[in-house]
Amino acid sequence: MDKILEVRDLHVAFTTYGGTVKAVRGVDFYLNKGETLAIVGESGCGKSVTANAIMRLIPDPPGKITNGSISFHEKDLTTFTEKQMRSIRGVDISMIFQDPMTALNPTLTIGTQLMEGLRQHQAISGNDAKRRALEMLDLVGIPNPEERLKQYPHQFSGGMRQRVVIAIALICEPELLIADEPTTALDVTIQAQILELFEKIQAATGVSIILITHDLGVVAKIADRIVVMYAGKIIEEGTRREVFYQPKHPYTQGLLMSVPRLDVKGEALTPIEGTPPDLFSPPKACPFTARCSFAMEVCEKVYPENYQLSDTHSVDCWLQDERAKPFSDPVTVNI
Ligand code: SF4
Ligand code: MG
Repeated sequence: MDKILEVRDLHVAFTTYGGTVKAVRGVDFYLNKGETLAIVGESGCGKSVTANAIMRLIPDPPGKITNGSISFHEKDLTTFTEKQMRSIRGVDISMIFQDPMTALNPTLTIGTQLMEGLRQHQAISGNDAKRRALEMLDLVGIPNPEERLKQYPHQFSGGMRQRVVIAIALICEPELLIADEPTTALDVTIQAQILELFEKIQAATGVSIILITHDLGVVAKIADRIVVMYAGKIIEEGTRREVFYQPKHPYTQGLLMSVPRLDVKGEALTPIEGTPPDLFSPPKACPFTARCSFAMEVCEKVYPENYQLSDTHSVDCWLQDERAKPFSDPVTVNI
């Protein structure tokens, strides 16, 4: 398969008065062409920071990519100038955010906003731009596109506004769409419609998608592969099937138990107890130790780096290491 994006050993830190926050601590993942990859984790786990790093939208200062590479078609975006990035953002890689209202300008018509990006980046006549804008509104399922083009954001419902935002993101036909919590601000029925829309758009355009969410339920249907982040690291990675049906990290298992399931009525949800570690001075070993009911002595001492369970499935957890078995206490491992 064609890899369009490969992130290697990415580190992002923010300097604050209180010290340096190590928000992303050595993240590796890739994305194939036409694929949907979900990045899942609680707020503060580094998933949005990772997305912003790909777009080179980390505010510097206080933020900085301190290590690693982000290869897009084998060109390392971390070496790009702001000018080079401007020619990529919205054209080759587009991003959409949680709140569709703040993404739109309330004083401009939808048509103007749709055509703006197109005319900025392409030599295109007014008529062609309009035709393209109408096509996009049609693609994202907005009825009466001719009339809608002349309207302002407040004349659209929340779900319709998010459709407009998606249309704007896709109008220059980017190869990669990064969607950061795109359905969180919407109610459940609209959420489902927007997720279906992503599938439809992918089938129609072949765009690759990175979908960022705190809610594993959201990705159950549409992700091809899932990476789970915790405390600035990817702690489990696999195909949708592997992560949903054979989750190996206790944190992933915990996330799955806290997802509401439509097929199991009245089932009690179990939130994960405790809080993630402080990222000013993150633990060198497993960051989940304090919340993990399987924690062993070795977990507090050595980081459990990538146990490969299949070609596509890997986990950072000592439970997968033969040397850490049996789980008698204390467990000693010779590293
Ligand atoms: Fe729990 Fe240890 Fe696995 Fe960390 S490495 S998740 S503490 S069992
Ligand atoms: Mg890892």
